[in-house]
Amino acid sequence: EDKKSLNFIEQIIEEDLANGLDPKNLRFRFPPEPNGYLHIGHAASICLNFGLGEKYNAPVNLRFDDTNPAKEEQEYVDAIKRDVAWLGFKWDKELYSSDYFQQLYDWTIDIIKAGNAYVDMQSSEEIAAQKGTPTSPGTDSPYRNTSVEENLTLFEKMKNGEFGEGEAILRAKIDMQHNNMHMRDPIMYRVLKKHHHRTGNDWVIYPMYDWTHGESDYLESITHSLCTLEFKSHRDLYEWYLAQVADPNKIQPKQREFARRNISYTVMSKRKLLQLVQENHVAGWDDPRMPTISGLRRRGYTPNSIRKFSEIAGISKRDNVTDVALLEFCIKDELNKTAPRVMAVLDPIKLVIDNYPTDKEEILIAENNPEDESAGEREVPFAKELYIEREDFREQANKKFFRLKIGGEVRLKNAYIIKADSVEKDENGNITLIHCTADLDSRSGSGTEASKRRVKGTIHWVSKKHAVKTQVNLYDRLFKDEAPDSHKDIDFKQFINPNSLEVITALVEPSLLTSKPGDRFQFQRKGYFCADVDSTSNQLIFNRTVGLTDSWAK
Ligand code: ATP
Ligand code: MG
Ligand code: MG
Repeated sequence: EDKKSLNFIEQIIEEDLANGLDPKNLRFRFPPEPNGYLHIGHAASICLNFGLGEKYNAPVNLRFDDTNPAKEEQEYVDAIKRDVAWLGFKWDKELYSSDYFQQLYDWTIDIIKAGNAYVDMQSSEEIAAQKGTPTSPGTDSPYRNTSVEENLTLFEKMKNGEFGEGEAILRAKIDMQHNNMHMRDPIMYRVLKKHHHRTGNDWVIYPMYDWTHGESDYLESITHSLCTLEFKSHRDLYEWYLAQVADPNKIQPKQREFARRNISYTVMSKRKLLQLVQENHVAGWDDPRMPTISGLRRRGYTPNSIRKFSEIAGISKRDNVTDVALLEFCIKDELNKTAPRVMAVLDPIKLVIDNYPTDKEEILIAENNPEDESAGEREVPFAKELYIEREDFREQANKKFFRLKIGGEVRLKNAYIIKADSVEKDENGNITLIHCTADLDSRSGSGTEASKRRVKGTIHWVSKKHAVKTQVNLYDRLFKDEAPDSHKDIDFKQFINPNSLEVITALVEPSLLTSKPGDRFQFQRKGYFCADVDSTSNQLIFNRTVGLTDSWAK
């Protein structure tokens, strides 16, 4: 395989294989903390890890990194599983860091016995003050030289709940002068008297991320532990901990880092997304404006479009921001090929064809998708009174206006060529009705000369009598700013777009009555829309996934 076509993580793996790693031993994991819903940034990590699993035919574990009971919940575990599965990936084992609490505790006893960990009873302020800075060394804690026996007793007391939160921590005894701040006697355990979503009240001490992650990788025989760049400086510690516990004859997991996925016009930290939910800026984690997987799903995104996006955006060694337009391109490109076309009038104005028989109804045939012959055709009812889009009509307009104007002709999609004759207005001067005359020989598909006559514009419509009232949620970006959380002294919520949701009542063709939640359509000339999870035949609800053109250029 051409080296250039490999990403840098694949190059690392290829090198390891070349150096003797048995490909049968390759094993990966995706390690979410169940403290929120997955977002499109996580999708990068999911696609990377599961993509490697597929490429190398290697198992990938779904490991919940659940070491902070204050923030973790079963609801999040369930949502994460749903989202990974929806993206189309199958994990090998479902595992939890909390399953290793006893093993971690037992190893910790060994580390204390080896003189490599101690209980510190100073305040967090005192400990922070001793940490030093990246350019100046730290100072040893007064507890650093407590005897092994004393440390074993104190740690036992921590475990038994005899210390309150913040009264004692266990620290690894490494080096307070180390160039890497993470190596200056980092915390291994803290007291947290909180109910854990899986271990209940079994534990009142909880292991820190660094002292859990590599050991979990080791216990699961993970070969490549891929994480985001902010953990690069933790790698020394990852390796130090492994050196304390790992059997050198077993697989030694390797931490390697890649850049987080950032996307323009949104925020991507679970902490900030949680704020949006808790403070009701959005309707929930799956609000279609959220950059969460569940929000994107409700918005109408497909698993394929998200995987495609991850593939095109790729993985990188340096921090960068991906234009949200790329994500939008990926869904538009897919829906253009797959979404059935329908007619929906979002801002209706009434039109009457004066020369069409009053009681006549016709069933016209419409092509479902010009990009896909196999999509077939459907029936659309036509009658004398119609609705068209208000913006598709002007009383007067110049030659460049190819839609309907007095004295001008347009074709009604799948139907007749009409000419506008006059309008009726209310007392405020608003147009209430457009009078038209149809060329009754010009019906699309009828084979007549007139049916082949070319006019400049084609507009969509729905029959007044058959139109179905539908709620349509027009979503726009949630933030007005390209990088809402990049402003030093301004809270990201200051950049929330007050017009990110406009709810309207639209009139749609009756074929949509049989639509089911999650069904996706192109509303011709208007964009791609997806039936909401709450949509029923009694109350249809559609969410705008994305416009047809680049919506931010308007
Ligand atoms: P957040 O700040 O959003 O909570 P996190 O890194 O704390 O992110 P985790 O649940 O710990 O969230 O992440 C699970 C995995 O997904 C980790 O390996 C993490 O590095 C990766 N990940 C999280 N956010 C991103 C992102 N924006 N881009 C790529 N990978 C990510
Ligand atoms: Mg994390
Ligand atoms: Mg986090």
